[in-house]
Formats: sequence, structure tokens, C-alpha cells
Amino acid sequence: MPVRYSGKGDSGGPAREVFAHREDTLMSEYAAPDIRAGRLAAEQLAANFDDAKPPLDPKRALVESSRCFYCFDAPCIDACPTSIDIPSFIRSIATGDPIGAAETILEANIMGGMCSRVCPVEILCEESCVREHSEAKPVQIGALQRYATDALVASGMQPFVRAPLSGKKVAVVGGGPAGLSAAHRLSRLGHDVIVFEAREKIGGLSEYGIAAYKTVHDFAQTEVAFILALGGITIRSGMALGRDISLTDLRRDFDAVFLAMGLAGVNALGVAGEDMAGVEDAVAYIARLRQAKDKSALSVGRKVVVIGGGNTAIDIAIQSKRLGAEDVTLVYRRGADNMSATDHEQEFAQVNGVKIKHWARPVKLIGHKGAVREIEFEYTQLDGQGRLMGTGETFSLLCDTVFKAIGQTLVKDPLNGKANDVLDMSGGKIAINEDFATSLKGVFAGGDCVASGIDLTVQSVADGRDAAIAIDAYLRGES
Ligand SMILES: Cc1cc2nc3c(=O)[nH]c(=O)nc-3n(C[C@H](O)[C@H](O)[C@H](O)COP(=O)(O)OP(=O)(O)OC[C@H]3O[C@@H](n4cnc5c(N)ncnc54)[C@H](O)[C@@H]3O)c2cc1C
Ligand code: SF4
Repeated sequence: MPVRYSGKGDSGGPAREVFAHREDTLMSEYAAPDIRAGRLAAEQLAANFDDAKPPLDPKRALVESSRCFYCFDAPCIDACPTSIDIPSFIRSIATGDPIGAAETILEANIMGGMCSRVCPVEILCEESCVREHSEAKPVQIGALQRYATDALVASGMQPFVRAPLSGKKVAVVGGGPAGLSAAHRLSRLGHDVIVFEAREKIGGLSEYGIAAYKTVHDFAQTEVAFILALGGITIRSGMALGRDISLTDLRRDFDAVFLAMGLAGVNALGVAGEDMAGVEDAVAYIARLRQAKDKSALSVGRKVVVIGGGNTAIDIAIQSKRLGAEDVTLVYRRGADNMSATDHEQEFAQVNGVKIKHWARPVKLIGHKGAVREIEFEYTQLDGQGRLMGTGETFSLLCDTVFKAIGQTLVKDPLNGKANDVLDMSGGKIAINEDFATSLKGVFAGGDCVASGIDLTVQSVADGRDAAIAIDAYLRGES
């Protein structure tokens, strides 16, 4: 039997299994990897992937809206990256006008419906709500925002109109939140927009990345349809910059270009054995999960180990568990406070049965017949200068799947134009100034692919909106 002991630095989730690495004895435990589909019955899977936060009904929305103090200089507005006039939209709900509330929201944030589902409100608007400070129970701003925007989308109304046409054409590269937000605002301002999107569907990570239980009933595509209903936006899907079009072509054929291509690459673990069967990129797996019509056809391991500490790590861990994985352990190289996943998300993972171990990093993947069966970790700590270092002490976990979720990277090759149009970079992302302008004239960028802000949907929507306003000024010769 493997030697078991309690590892230090554990966050204390349910029953811990920590194995001292003794390859000779562990090898005898290596059965074939248990990765298979249909671990749970269809009804159970449907329940597991149903709406994690069901919507408010009209009565509850009215009661919740009445809790708002309609603060002067409301701190919740400052805490929202898109600066939605929160007290104003909550007042509209309280007076029985959810459509008016939605118009206020969408004026600032055209993806207010998606953001109401995916924003980590506990570190944004709701954290700053005065009710949070006085009674530890903020106004449920996210839920009210969803109530209002759902009402408008269901009504089929289109609250926006385009300004008189400017005769200018703008190319947008990437149909995610940043690209769609920019396209919508540019179209409203009277410009014609063509969105070049590499994938089949528009929506970016709202369609291919966000956890399935946060955005149910194909909401990402409903929202895309609502945005495109404004008119003036042409979608060219299956068209990738660098493969089907070049930056040089776009600069020649359009009056301005907005780059919103997100982060299409993933970081490698950098340990031996990464190419073994069972070692998977979490983002790619989540994309398959989001597109799966039948989740019971998705294969999932029995023992899953996730490496990482952000949204992606938490989401793949929870979704693996909800697909029926028996044992899911998330391992992060630093402490709980250093994880980019919020406390709320970490708790949610633990409630879902995910074990979280801190202060350990992978050092070796060990396989059996070409498939990963074990992963060895070294405990970590900070040295006197606050740098992360290994302690030399190790432990191993048996597994049949390892998900890599240690961050995404900008794929730079597509940005190489045919001529000498080389973009300046900063910290591995596209460098921009305060007007979202890159180092190339007429080329702007925003969202995850730029070196500013936080990698959240709401930040990308804010970037897209503000970049569109800056592009409009450029096209009118005002900047
Ligand atoms: C697994 C996961 C879960 C997340 N969960 C949350 C969450 O719960 N809440 C939250 O607020 N944020 C979350 N995020 C972050 C959020 O999804 C992103 O910050 C946001 O989608 C970034 O928007 P974007 O438009 O910049 O990029 P993306 O959404 O990545 O969109 C970029 C688009 O560009 C396209 N593209 C890429 N390269 C090219 C090319 N060469 N040519 C043409 N098109 C190209 C891509 O196909 C994609 O459609 C999550 C991210 C991940 C990975
Ligand atoms: S801080 Fe809270 S109470 Fe004040 S306006 Fe915002 S939501 Fe209402």
C-alpha cells in the first residue's frame, strides 16, 4: 500500500489522500486509466449543469430593489468596470419598469445580460455596496441586472438606433466580448463594421469558455443575436487573422482596425511527460464541454488533478466533478489569498467536492503504457525576498487526467503583417496607450489581448466600448 500522510499547506477540503512517492508500490496500483463517458445518469447531468443562480421572479425582484438606498456618489458604480448607473436601474425596477432598467444597463454595457451571470460581483459592485458594509448582505445587484436585461431580451425590443452613416469601415478581429462591444458601439456611431472571427460561432469565451452552469439555454447566442439586430455589423466567421487575412490587408482595406483576439494560447507546465495521454488543456476541454449537445457523451477521468489557481482551474475542477469524476484535486503553487479565483469561487469548488491543495508545484508526470497515472509535486514556500521556492519535500497523487490551467497567452504570429507593420508588445500582450491605440496608426486593441485591466468579461466589454469611442474620434479626425 502507498504510504499516506497529511500534507502541509492543505486548505482542508473533504477527505485528503496524499501519497508519499514510492513508484515500486504505486505501480502495482496502476490499472488502465478510468476515463469514460456516461458516469452519471442523464437526469443527474441535467441537474448538475442547470442554472447555478436561478433568476429572480417579479415579486423577489421588487423586494430586493426596495433594499437599495439609491446612494449619492454610489460606490457600486465606481466598482463596476463599465460604470453602470446601478441606483438608477434599481429605481426603475422598484417602480415597475424593468425595460427602462435594462436600457440604463445596456447603455453602459451592451453585454449586461452575460455580465449579470458571470461577473464576480463579490469583488466588484456587491463588495462595495453599503448594505454589505452595514449588514454583510449587499443588494443583489447582479440578480437584479439579470432580471431587467432578461425582460428586455424577452420583449424582442431593440432600444438602440444607428447614427447617420459616416461612410467609414472598421475591421474588428475577434468576436468575443471586446470585439462585440466595440462593434456595437461603432455601429451605433454610424460606422460599418466587419467582424473577422476564427471560430465557427461568435461570442468568444462567453460561448466557448464560461462554465456551462453560469450561462444556460444558449444565452451567449441569444445575446449575440440581440447585439447584431442593431444592424451595420457583418460577421465573417471562420476567418482568422494570420491565416485568411493579414494585418497589412486590413490596414489597406479599412479606415481603422480593432484587435480583440483574446488569448488563444495556453501556458505549458514545463515538466517532463506533458505529452502523455490524459494530460489536457483545460480551456480546450471546457470548449468541448460547452459545445457538447449531450454531456453524457463526454469522457471524464475517475481521478482528476487540476493545476492552477484562477477561473479556469476552478471551472474545470467543478465541471469534472459535475460530470461524475470521483476524486478531483486542485493544486496551486501559492496560498489561497494569491489565487486569482475569488474566495467565493474557491468555496463553491469545495462545496462541489473539489479538494484544494496550496503551496505545491508539479515536478514530474509519471505514466504507465503512455498514459498519465501519477503526478509528483514539490511543496513550495517563499524565501526571504518573497520569491517562490521548492522545499525539496515531495508527494504524489494518482490520477488518470491532469488538467493544465496555469494561464493563457497571446498568440503573436497572426499579428505579423506582410509589410513592416510590427506591433509593440508589453508584458507579452499588445501595448496600447490610454486611447486604446497601438504603435501602428489606425490600429487599436482591447480586451484580454492587451496589457491593461483584468481578464474578466466586464473589463473586455468596457474596453470594447471605450476603444470604439476612441476610434470614432480618430475617424472624425479629432485625435
Ligand atoms: C475557462 C474560463 C472561464 C472564465 N470565466 C469567467 C467568468 O466566470 N467571469 C468572467 O467575468 N470572466 C471569465 N473568464 C474571462 C473572460 O471570459 C474573458 O476575460 C473574456 O472573454 C475576454 O474577452 P475578449 O473579447 O478579450 O477575448 P475572447 O473572449 O477570448 O474572444 C476573442 C475572440 O477572438 C477570436 N480569435 C482569436 N484569434 C483570432 C484570429 N487570429 N483571427 C480571428 N479571430 C481570432 C477567438 O476565437 C475569440 O472568439 C473566463 C475565462 C476562461 C478561459
Ligand atoms: S451601494 Fe448598494 S445601496 Fe447604495 S446605490 Fe449601490 S446598490 Fe444601492
